[in-house]
Amino acid sequence: MKQPQKEKLLAVLYPARCAFCGKVVAPLQRLCENCKTEAEPIAGETCMRCAMPKKRCACGKRSHFYDEAIAAYIYDGVVKEGILRYKRGGDRRAALFFAEAAANRYREACSFQADYIAYIPQRKKEVDARSFHQARELAVLLSKALDIPVFDGLVKLYDVPPQKSLPHLYKRGNVAGIFDVTTPEAVAGKRFILFDDVKTTGETMDECAKMLKLSDAEKVVALSFAATEKKRRPGGKPEFKK
Ligand SMILES: [Zn+2]
Ligand SMILES: [Zn+2]
Repeated sequence: MKQPQKEKLLAVLYPARCAFCGKVVAPLQRLCENCKTEAEPIAGETCMRCAMPKKRCACGKRSHFYDEAIAAYIYDGVVKEGILRYKRGGDRRAALFFAEAAANRYREACSFQADYIAYIPQRKKEVDARSFHQARELAVLLSKALDIPVFDGLVKLYDVPPQKSLPHLYKRGNVAGIFDVTTPEAVAGKRFILFDDVKTTGETMDECAKMLKLSDAEKVVALSFAATEKKRRPGGKPEFKK
């Protein structure tokens, strides 16, 4: 069944729900009025290193393996609740909203046309524990929205503690060397979207971008549905909001 037909059928069978809070909304609406007001879409001039609006960038111009970073929303409030709700329950229509918003943002802000969409790979047992590969599912939806094929050649070699369980200082080391590219010949000279639902410190995205670049990828854009704002305390070190 084609996607629009399927969506119409779903709208008849199940009421439409807000992608963030899950409240019932009018047919074919994606967000409720409250979430629409509360969520902070990213638009206008942004920092290409951290994806934040220029005025809110606190990344200190640190360089990355990816060439640019783009995100559709700031990861906070209702956006954060929505993503956590999706991670718990796997609401496919929320996933569709995340992918479509990321697709729109990519069209608006990316400086190049990508050949492939890569995603952060998981180990088989991580996928089995959740019963679906969340990152790949989102990549497939993004692929449909943009008509760009999914690239399945990034693999995760080892299990490591989740990034969010570690202090900032250990995050980079935690993911170093845990990914590989199985088909480097398919990567050489190509331009990639590396897609994830949330970019926090960006270390995992950067490590995957590094592997693509080591296989001679021409360009990599780190695209996420939402990105965490780095707060700079007066006189202190930059801090990521938990
Ligand atoms: Zn809502
Ligand atoms: Zn920045």
